[in-house]
Amino acid sequence: MSRVLIIGAGGVGSVVVHKCCQVPEVFSDIMLASRTKAKCDAIAARLPVPIQTARVDADRVDELVALMQDFKPELCINVALPYQDLTIMDACLACGVHYLDTANYEPRNEAKFEYKWQWAYQDRFKEAGLMALLGSGFDPGVTNVFTAWAAKHHFDEIHELDIIDCNAGDHGQPFATNFNPEINIREVTAPARHWEEGNWIETPPLSTAHDFDFPEGIGPRKIYLMYHEELESLTRHFPALKAARFWMTFSDNYLRHLEVLQNVGMTSIEPIEYNGQQIVPLQFLKAVLPDPASLGPLTRGRTCIGCLVKGMKDGREKKYYIYNICDHHKCYEEVGAQAVSYTTGVPAMIGAMLMLTGSWRGTGVFNMEQLAPEPFMEKLNLHGLPWTEVIL
Ligand code: NDP
Repeated sequence: MSRVLIIGAGGVGSVVVHKCCQVPEVFSDIMLASRTKAKCDAIAARLPVPIQTARVDADRVDELVALMQDFKPELCINVALPYQDLTIMDACLACGVHYLDTANYEPRNEAKFEYKWQWAYQDRFKEAGLMALLGSGFDPGVTNVFTAWAAKHHFDEIHELDIIDCNAGDHGQPFATNFNPEINIREVTAPARHWEEGNWIETPPLSTAHDFDFPEGIGPRKIYLMYHEELESLTRHFPALKAARFWMTFSDNYLRHLEVLQNVGMTSIEPIEYNGQQIVPLQFLKAVLPDPASLGPLTRGRTCIGCLVKGMKDGREKKYYIYNICDHHKCYEEVGAQAVSYTTGVPAMIGAMLMLTGSWRGTGVFNMEQLAPEPFMEKLNLHGLPWTEVIL
């Protein structure tokens, strides 16, 4: 029986609330708070059980503290935007509340993905006797746990890791992103970075690609090398890794639109003067693109996200692949959201459940791979994200 505060009423927040409501024996009292209360109320109206809702500006520690002092949650699930991670962590420290998120902190004026800002909270969370769980979505999140599971149960030492994220779905829109457009485009247009023999190698955005044959009828798709935040924590926690890379599929149509938008300056995060006021082109673009939450009823097809791992077992080389396949429309039928929101929201609920029930307990700041993978892997199968493993 626990009180949980969920911040962020977007595509992911909606899934987290729906999934928490499915486990009332753990999440007995739920509050959904976000910048726009009407969005929280609209989600609440679709739920099978009543929850509380509130308006909060999560950029402001004082507003967060007032809300937490009033609602008194044990845990705060942050599914607002990465910009709010530090203010929400500060409020959790001030109020004695455990913390969980799905994306690492990013400064608003620089597309930079690094854990250093959140890892710097280690001592403060330890001293307060609190736990902060970072990156409990799919990637980061499940991919970290898949890696920990592979390292523990299939290898003596892991040497190569390829995280491969395929969205083989189609929403029928000329151009739309499956999660927050601003965050998505900042990530995709950043230089690629991968780990090779103890060094980070940087290459131009989307400049390295090859075909990968996805399982269960999805078939071959082009995957593009990118940088993703879990590479930083995984290379730190699995120091035997000689190579670690992150790959994602994009349709030709998505890339064509993105190229034009970049060429005309619409993806820039540098403020410009327009009609006497400062606007950030990427934030304006977000305002005219479809809301990712609106893609739920439109999207068909499946996602396939997994880890390809190479290493040594009993003195021999071994290659192993573990993945989840998720069907967009089935997600929509269950919780009213497409699979990208679903595959992020379910692991956030599971991470929260493991923290609240004591399966995952500790003080300080944790990445997912630092905790025992077994209970999380078991819950994935039970709560809508079953996984398959193959020895290659
Ligand atoms: P959305 O843009 O759909 O939702 C974000 C929500 O946060 C909105 O409701 C927004 O409010 C709210 N919000 C923004 N700023 C504030 C603020 N200052 N105070 C309070 N609320 C605020 O994003 P998604 O649901 O698609 O993504 C949510 C998070 O999940 C992001 O951090 C994203 O990076 C992460 N993510 C992680 C993935 C993973 O696998 N690990 C995959 C996909 C996403 P309003 O409605 O008023 O704008």
